[in-house]
Amino acid sequence: MTNPPALVWFRRDLRIKDNPALHAAARSGAPLVCLFVLDNTGAFAAGGASRWWLHHSLVALQKSLSALGGTLVVMHGPASKIVPQFVDKIGAKTVFWNRRYDPDGIETDRYLKTALQGAGVSVNSFNGALIREPWETETGAGAFYRVFTPFWRAMQRLGPSRAEITAELDASFKDLAKDIHTQGTGSNPWGLLPTAPNWAAEFPDSWVPGEIGAHKALRDFVASTIDTYDTDRNRPDLERTSRLSPHLAFGEISPLQIWNAVHAQISAGNIIEKSAMTFLSEIAWREFSYNLIYHYTDIQTTPIKPNFANFPWRDDDHLFQRWTKGQTGIPIVDAGMRQLWRTGWMHNRVRMIAASFLTKNLLIDWREGERWFWDTLVDADAASNTASWQWVAGSGADAAPYFRIFNPVTQSEKFDPTGAYIRKYIPELRELPDKYIHAPWKASHAILDEAHITLDQTYPKPIVDLQTSRQRALDAYATVKSS
Ligand SMILES: Cc1cc2nc3c(=O)[nH]c(=O)nc-3n(C[C@H](O)[C@H](O)[C@H](O)COP(=O)(O)OP(=O)(O)OC[C@H]3O[C@@H](n4cnc5c(N)ncnc54)[C@H](O)[C@@H]3O)c2cc1C
Repeated sequence: MTNPPALVWFRRDLRIKDNPALHAAARSGAPLVCLFVLDNTGAFAAGGASRWWLHHSLVALQKSLSALGGTLVVMHGPASKIVPQFVDKIGAKTVFWNRRYDPDGIETDRYLKTALQGAGVSVNSFNGALIREPWETETGAGAFYRVFTPFWRAMQRLGPSRAEITAELDASFKDLAKDIHTQGTGSNPWGLLPTAPNWAAEFPDSWVPGEIGAHKALRDFVASTIDTYDTDRNRPDLERTSRLSPHLAFGEISPLQIWNAVHAQISAGNIIEKSAMTFLSEIAWREFSYNLIYHYTDIQTTPIKPNFANFPWRDDDHLFQRWTKGQTGIPIVDAGMRQLWRTGWMHNRVRMIAASFLTKNLLIDWREGERWFWDTLVDADAASNTASWQWVAGSGADAAPYFRIFNPVTQSEKFDPTGAYIRKYIPELRELPDKYIHAPWKASHAILDEAHITLDQTYPKPIVDLQTSRQRALDAYATVKSS
């Protein structure tokens, strides 16, 4: 009798190393079949930029699997239908996957577990996405953490809740019949690439989707940049962050691998501990966001702070469009929004400034911004995006108090002091002296003329007055703060 195959269902865990589901399936001794389902259903179906990254990540995973003698089957449709049909087709008796923590992912997991077990198939699910699962880090009272600092302290005290798998994968793969290959052909086999890309054109060469690229990014960052992370991470002009976010979002590297690699370098005395721990605290923000999305299942639509339910957001599509296009007249906001559109990524400090400008100066609902980021970020992540937007808007757990409204000009002067970041993404302001680059409307006609700028022709005047709109935001907040 032939040994029935085991199905490994890949999700946002597109890697071979430290992949608990894949390694457990290999240990079962059954020949493996690997599946990825392109599921466009649910609130967190991949947006445009993520689909671009996903294409390249799937190509990389296919390459790695084929080097091991396997293959990756890619199918389109709702996972809740495709997975059981495929299990049936290949005659699998066991299925392995790594868990998801967003509401749609959890519902799919639950549904599939019941359906497959009901059909006599054994289901094995694992933690492949987090250092500690959301229910594993609790307060002394047995509740989940709503505030980051004690959460981070607990994470440091408790450490990872599973051991990293460092052994090489030792698996055998089932030979698949030709009719099972449903991955299409050509350069865009799954229809994930945009047909007329006007973004990603400036994607940095150093940014390589896939597991190999992820580990190279980590190695490069630890070797050359981590020591200055503590002091320079807020500087968009210096590019001193790890840029690991899309790799993490697609599970090309696990946060546990990052945690262990950084701790090993600290122990060896190769890197500065304080700076490295600041970096790991950002990885912990990711964990905290997963903790929030797991416990606040409607985080994408409902403010965590109930008093924000009736916040008087303004509906203004014209201003929203200006924001998305980087045409607000506030250079740091526009530079960020153009970086996002052109490269699929934006520096964290600028994300905060741009999000604050939308939700406070324009008084536009954070859910609009969340959707735009979801579609345009290559690192779009259900947990980090929703939690961060609520954080900036003031409605989130442990959020910045609403009344602490960023002044984008002072933020810009502080974090992009020479205007290098602004000049990179807004070439029409390139010739403006440093003194005016953050607020061109303050420059005299003579200075603007010399820099070849005509406000509202070559570059917009601010679409709102920063002082007036700040006060309007505070007034709006006053109407809900005690409700
Ligand atoms: C409005 C807004 C929306 C955001 N949306 C996303 C998103 O969709 N996906 C996403 O991965 N991050 C999101 N972030 C968080 C953060 O901006 C990015 O993780 C970071 O800029 C990625 O760059 P990096 O990898 O160089 O970060 P580094 O500074 O090198 O940090 C290392 C890793 O830590 C994690 N991390 C860092 N900061 C945060 C944070 N504030 N919250 C959660 N995780 C964090 C990321 O996984 C990141 O790759 C958002 C932040 C804001 C303010």
